[in-house]
Amino acid sequence: MSTMTIDANLVADDAGTVSCRHCETALGTVRGNPLEHARVHERPSTEAGPGVHVDPRTFTDRAIVVRQAFCPQCLTLLTTEIVPADEPSFRTWSLL
Ligand SMILES: [Zn+2]
Repeated sequence: MSTMTIDANLVADDAGTVSCRHCETALGTVRGNPLEHARVHERPSTEAGPGVHVDPRTFTDRAIVVRQAFCPQCLTLLTTEIVPADEPSFRTWSLL
């Protein structure tokens, strides 16, 4: 079976399963949600660190969060997004 490297942490196989490159845990599918089984943690964007310190209420009425996805087995950080809380992850990410 051949694989396609997606990034430093993710790989997809011929069947379309997306897995962690470090521990081989299946995380999702290329045709569905590639990170369906990832562990997701959200917190207010103001807690993102010194580079993101402005209160988002200055610019929008929507809640803005830092959303991070981790491998559920080895806890490798897979993605980090700063997004409106009411929007799904990977608004434009597609593997097809
Ligand atoms: Zn892993």
